[in-house]
Amino acid sequence: MATFTPIKVDGFRKVVEVTDAKSELHAIFALHRTNPKPALGGLRIATYPSREEALIDALRLAKGMSYKAAFADMPYSGAKSIIILKPGQKKTHALLTAYAHALNTLDGDYFAGTDLGSTIDDANIILETSPYVAGLNAQNIRVDHSKYTAWGCFRGMQAIAQHLWNSPSLENKTIAIQGIGNVGYKLAEHLFWAGAHLIVCDTDNSLVRKAEENFAAKIISPDRFIECECDILAPCATGGTIRDTTIPLLQCQGIGGAANNQLEKPENGEQLREAGILYAPDYVINAGGLISARKPFSTAESVSARKTRFMVDAIYSKLLNLYEQADDEGIATSIAADNIAEAKLAQYD
Ligand code: NAD
Repeated sequence: MATFTPIKVDGFRKVVEVTDAKSELHAIFALHRTNPKPALGGLRIATYPSREEALIDALRLAKGMSYKAAFADMPYSGAKSIIILKPGQKKTHALLTAYAHALNTLDGDYFAGTDLGSTIDDANIILETSPYVAGLNAQNIRVDHSKYTAWGCFRGMQAIAQHLWNSPSLENKTIAIQGIGNVGYKLAEHLFWAGAHLIVCDTDNSLVRKAEENFAAKIISPDRFIECECDILAPCATGGTIRDTTIPLLQCQGIGGAANNQLEKPENGEQLREAGILYAPDYVINAGGLISARKPFSTAESVSARKTRFMVDAIYSKLLNLYEQADDEGIATSIAADNIAEAKLAQYD
């Protein structure tokens, strides 16, 4: 029998820790809000140094999802779930099934997508037991939404170019991408055809070689990314790239990429403004995936790819308006984005 322990957290609608000895499940469900319903957010499967760090990660990511949905005008709340793996513990069918049973107890308040450590195959195992899986196609199979995220990042970069250089063209601009994975590779392809010069890094050598061959990208080692001289820096790997110690090293004019939680802490947004670097807030520029998963119950992608593209395109104008507002108010773009998202969320209180 699984044990469910509610955790009281200010500002969060529901946080539950679940343990099940038989399947070795140790999970946290963090629902930032449940109005509007449902809450969406990925399932992260990872080892953590401690249970507290997993909880902090879940809370931070869940809140970020609420802001992302609000800014994108999507009628969803934010949530996140984490399966905490013990060192050496493997994902098993039983583990994912136990997670799915726990997901069912939330009665559709939360739909889980994929995230770090969870794959489409995992989502399909969860679907055997639970209907509460986000981003399904017409065949009820979880699909990859990264092409929409990549397109949104590309449009977001055009907004950076428009604001900084008075033209959305990225031709002859130098763009450095950290992480040539699902999103980074597709973004690189858009940029290549737009005439940009690419610099890429990834911890996986085969991916950068592919970008070198297909997009004439220059390869750098991951530890040189932050100080690489370029027009726009695109973090598309993990969070926390922009922090107190890395901001003084930056040699770019704009930052826009797919990674979640790019700023290690809120003050980093103001530090970027003071350094004269235009930052596209992560949850604004990377909302394409969420927008494309907008009907968690059925067939978003196959029904309306054209409409989805139209909605993802709006990231361009949303960012331009945001930049103007931040300039007018003399505040960081990240703070301006939070203010807008919070005002939108207040409608549901
Ligand atoms: P992915 O796992 O396919 O790609 C990430 C890539 O980054 C991998 O190739 C990995 O080898 C590389 N990487 C990891 N650490 C690195 C480092 N220190 N330096 C350089 N490269 C490194 O993931 P993805 O789906 O492309 O997502 C990328 C980021 O965007 C993630 O932070 C994800 O949370 C975020 N995001 C993705 C989507 C989506 O639709 N996939 C939507 C919103 C946000």
